[in-house]
Amino acid sequence: MSTHRAVLIPGDGIGPEVTGAVLRVLQAAGAPLEWEEHVAGVTALERGEDVLPEETVDAIRRLGVALKGPCTTPVGEGFTSVNVQLRKRLNLYAAVRPVRSLDGVKTRFEDVDLVIIRENTEGLYSGVENQVTDDVVMSMKVATETACTRIARWAFRYATRRDRKKITVFHKANIMKVTDGLFLRCAREIHKAEYPNIEYDEVIIDAGCMKLVQNPGQFDVLLLENLYGDVVSDLCAGLVGGLGVVPGANIGEEQAVFEAVHGSAPDIAGQGVANPLALLMSAVMLLNYLAETRGDDVCREVAGRIRVAYDRALADGAKTRDLGGELGTDTFADAIIERLDN
Ligand code: NAD
Repeated sequence: MSTHRAVLIPGDGIGPEVTGAVLRVLQAAGAPLEWEEHVAGVTALERGEDVLPEETVDAIRRLGVALKGPCTTPVGEGFTSVNVQLRKRLNLYAAVRPVRSLDGVKTRFEDVDLVIIRENTEGLYSGVENQVTDDVVMSMKVATETACTRIARWAFRYATRRDRKKITVFHKANIMKVTDGLFLRCAREIHKAEYPNIEYDEVIIDAGCMKLVQNPGQFDVLLLENLYGDVVSDLCAGLVGGLGVVPGANIGEEQAVFEAVHGSAPDIAGQGVANPLALLMSAVMLLNYLAETRGDDVCREVAGRIRVAYDRALADGAKTRDLGGELGTDTFADAIIERLDN
């Protein structure tokens, strides 16, 4: 059996706690992974390194995959987000966030099964902000035909391979006619020319948010530009139990970085109560990515067993505080390990 070397970035805040729990589950399940640990974010700064050390970026380039904990970014001042930097440096242009209802996690809905695909490299995250006069500041929303076409093609290919039926673009092209207009035009063109097999729809984002909270079951794959994808990801997390249960992947042509949608949760860091499930689900996505890109069936089999084990744990009522349970980060990981069919 071959072992895959992968980069591990524990991150800041709750990052090291949830990472520790996830590594225990992966090891107990026999995941064929060997970690090379690197730092980023506040943890890197505290060690006197750059917020995103060159060594960390190089390691991901070299090994191709990374599991990353959340990194803190100061609000309104200080350094550019490590997450945004990393996605841009490695051209991880597609963010994929599956959002599904889980047995044992009671919410208003039982039938949520959505995938959010977010353009990860431009839009208002281009970081072009100016002080124009003492009174005026400006932020530039950047859209390129290359990036809009690339993400549209990626989304339709993903939907086709996963046997998904429909892609809905959330946009605001009634107001941002040029930038969101380009995003829509590219999606329409790819749909028409390359993927007529997938149903295609467009919804203005404000109405789309209302439809999501009224009846999320009507959506299948959502395709959004950067900022909308960020906001709608958290909204959708709220439909299925919160940020503790939504994983993510940032995927480029050569590399992929897997991380939960949630941040470093400074309000609960160090208390041993954070839910490790979102990061564990991200690790399951990493294993499935290795199975697909490197043809390793062991990875797929281990991913499947972990998924069955956490579904069982939740269905049995083993839950962390954010889901209404009483378990801590480590005791919840233990509950999953006990349910692994090895
Ligand atoms: P957050 O996601 O860290 O927390 C929002 C709320 O959700 C908090 O109440 C938190 O306690 C709760 N929460 C989040 N993850 C949880 C988990 N696993 N288990 C239980 N509860 C959980 O968002 P925030 O507070 O807006 O951001 C904190 C920091 O994280 C900021 O510096 C932000 O920039 C950063 N951030 C990083 C990433 C990333 O690294 N990919 C993503 C989002 C935010």
